[in-house]
Amino acid sequence: MVRILVRSGLVALASVAASLILALTVVPAMGGVVDGNAFMMCVICPLLIAWPASAYTFRQNERLTVAHRELARTHAQLAAAHRRLEDKASHDDMTGMLNRESFFASLDNSRRETDRGALLIIDADHFKAINDDFGHLTGDEALLLIAAAIRRGVRSGDILGRIGGEEFGAFLVGATEAEARHIAERIRREVELVRFRPVDERTIPLTVSIGGTICGSGATVSELMRGADRRLYEAKNGGRNLAIVESGLAAAA
Ligand code: GH3
Ligand code: MG
Ligand code: MG
Repeated sequence: MVRILVRSGLVALASVAASLILALTVVPAMGGVVDGNAFMMCVICPLLIAWPASAYTFRQNERLTVAHRELARTHAQLAAAHRRLEDKASHDDMTGMLNRESFFASLDNSRRETDRGALLIIDADHFKAINDDFGHLTGDEALLLIAAAIRRGVRSGDILGRIGGEEFGAFLVGATEAEARHIAERIRREVELVRFRPVDERTIPLTVSIGGTICGSGATVSELMRGADRRLYEAKNGGRNLAIVESGLAAAA
């Protein structure tokens, strides 16, 4: 408030000076005389008009600045809330990985940039037995350990999603067949190495079976899924705790 009074006071003084200069130059030039009353008017009028008018303007400006600042803060909070909502809608609550829908959307996006890559489907082995033996909550813990192991197995640019209850998808962006095999094997091994001890010192083995297929150019997502699913089926039939990655969609159809 003091700042506004001082600033508007300065404006009023400048107005007084301007009106005095005008009166003392223009009036004599026109043959008139600036007498005491005229002099007083030149001082009082700007003081009475300019001071309150500029104080009001400064006050409004200040209010506007505060309102702008609040608006910007609210805007930033809204944007953050929107980002959080978007994140929540696209991610699986439990593992933090992309949910099924977002996983396939990301896979699609990635394939628009490059056709090369490999799709892995990773399914926890005999997971029902873990729930049956230790309860669903302990099963959840096991699932989190498996998800963390899968994360350790992939590369930083790969796309991960939880595409089913105990089923995960990994899209290995740009990977060749050899790279995909190597990564699938690394994931399998990482899960196998998990020490899951839900009740006592006894370690309960956790394993996954992995089916993978290499992207042929022009292959659709559902063709890739069928290919990977077929290999997953072979891995399960092959005894589980196995990774099978192969290219070629024809055999999968
Ligand atoms: P397989 O080796 O053939 O894949 O056997 P499986 O027991 O893993 O497969 P099945 O499809 O028979 O059972 C999957 C189990 O995974 C049953 C289901 O309750 C459990 N499951 C799915 N989602 C969750 C989850 O979020 N938490 C827990 N604890 N269990 C889950
Ligand atoms: Mg399973
Ligand atoms: Mg399954």
